[in-house]
Amino acid sequence: MTKYIFITGGVVSSLGKGIVAASLGRLLVSRGYKVSVQKFDPYINVDPGTMSPFQHGEVFVCEDGAETDLDLGHYERFIDTNLSQINNVTSGSVYQTVINKERRGEYLGATVQMIPHITGEIKSRLTLASKRNNPDILIAEIGGTIGDIESLPFIEAIRQFRAEVGPQNSMSIHVTLLPYLPTSGELKTKPTQHSVNVLRSYGIQPEMLVLRTQVPVSKSEKDKIALFCSVNKESVIECKDLKSIYEVPLYLEKQGITSQVLKTLNLEDKPADLVQWADLINKINNPKHELTVAIAGKYTELNDAYISVVESLKHAGFQNDTKINLKWIASEEILTDEDAKAHLCDVDAIVVPGGFGVRGIEGKLKVVKYARENNVPYLGLCLGMQCAVIEFARNVAHLEDANSTEFDKNTPHKVVDLMEEQKNIAGYGATMRLGSYPCKIAPNTKAREVYGSDLILERHRHRFEFNSEYKDILTKAGLVISGTSPDELLAEIVEYPKNDWFVACQFHPEFKSRPQKPHPLFDGLIKTALKKKLS
Ligand code: GLN
Repeated sequence: MTKYIFITGGVVSSLGKGIVAASLGRLLVSRGYKVSVQKFDPYINVDPGTMSPFQHGEVFVCEDGAETDLDLGHYERFIDTNLSQINNVTSGSVYQTVINKERRGEYLGATVQMIPHITGEIKSRLTLASKRNNPDILIAEIGGTIGDIESLPFIEAIRQFRAEVGPQNSMSIHVTLLPYLPTSGELKTKPTQHSVNVLRSYGIQPEMLVLRTQVPVSKSEKDKIALFCSVNKESVIECKDLKSIYEVPLYLEKQGITSQVLKTLNLEDKPADLVQWADLINKINNPKHELTVAIAGKYTELNDAYISVVESLKHAGFQNDTKINLKWIASEEILTDEDAKAHLCDVDAIVVPGGFGVRGIEGKLKVVKYARENNVPYLGLCLGMQCAVIEFARNVAHLEDANSTEFDKNTPHKVVDLMEEQKNIAGYGATMRLGSYPCKIAPNTKAREVYGSDLILERHRHRFEFNSEYKDILTKAGLVISGTSPDELLAEIVEYPKNDWFVACQFHPEFKSRPQKPHPLFDGLIKTALKKKLS
């Protein structure tokens, strides 16, 4: 039977509940338990796919094409598992299911209500996740902060669920903030007490508290919190800000979080295998080299918009004992070749990540041009491949004003165009080419070299494609198509073989990189950049 851990947040949002959930997941897996993680987001959007990255940060794409919250990225990276649509539940998707059922008459004339119908649907998602993934332990993280109106149905559903599964089969972990007042040199516990009181007023007594703090929490402060909040002293866990998010599992483990969780859930406390994770942290903390990587995008004010790209670069850095310094380039600010040179002359590698819409495109094309002409290792991701194709068409194949029809419907050379099956699609939610597709790799290419395989699977999220009508012109001009769909109709990876590393892909490799298993394309980029720097 699956046991459940419910993680809620108190005092403020952006506490890093996702990292706590992911870290606990890692620790339980290291004890030999099978773990799955589910994120409940209280907003009304059916999924985050239609939200601006400024609102929400990155949209993480799962193997099955689910467009999900970026916390699923943390879960996949920490736990080294693949999740799917059932692992991300939003209020919007819950209401949609209930309203659709009502329209089909499935409630047989009943008044459809928050309790029991909405809460019932939320509970059934929990049950479904445990049936599908069959974990020993399901960690369910509730987005938002305790006290939000929006998250109330989720909290009520958890209260009911906990009563139904009974004690020792579920536990509640409340993650809160201890603000530090530098003037008096004090950590304040009052907001935590209030937050726990609110949670209790909803019928949930947390079994554990995780305290987010800038400075270490003393034993007496922990004991005081335990007393006020009716939590075991051993279950008051400190989670201080750390240099790397990957240090969090070991930091929590040192305080006995895993043993305490297992005790609360009446599960056996087996020995932990954390040797490899400790090796990873050792590598992270002792880099031998340093590289500066430019990321040229349009959502650069919010780093969360590119979180998987950033993590993937770091993973490749870990593998190569290299600290990665990021240089964010707002592509809109690059208007000329001189601008590109001024911003990029000191970087070791360049990434143009995914994106939508025309804003900043001409700047990205200047960035690609700089990378290609100056042999700076380049990795293009989705839009970054489309930009590479457009730049190559314009400046090498001399197809004047070549463009994607996303940015210029009347371009004389539609080198990137809408996919045929996308032309008649009306809505915007979950209608792109989404999820995992196979890709055939051509021999004697960089892609073949780094993947070490002829057939790979990668995750997609786009509407537009390389226009195969331009395949001959562009390949004659020197572009290599190194990855295609198995029927060879769609170009999935392009390369410019004159450069040491100029590789761009239509898919999003950043969704499959893991801290201990960096993605081959990111590893290729970093290895080449390092070799160039050291030569
Ligand atoms: N806007 C482009 C498309 O829809 C690229 C999408 C992306 O980078 N994720 O095809």
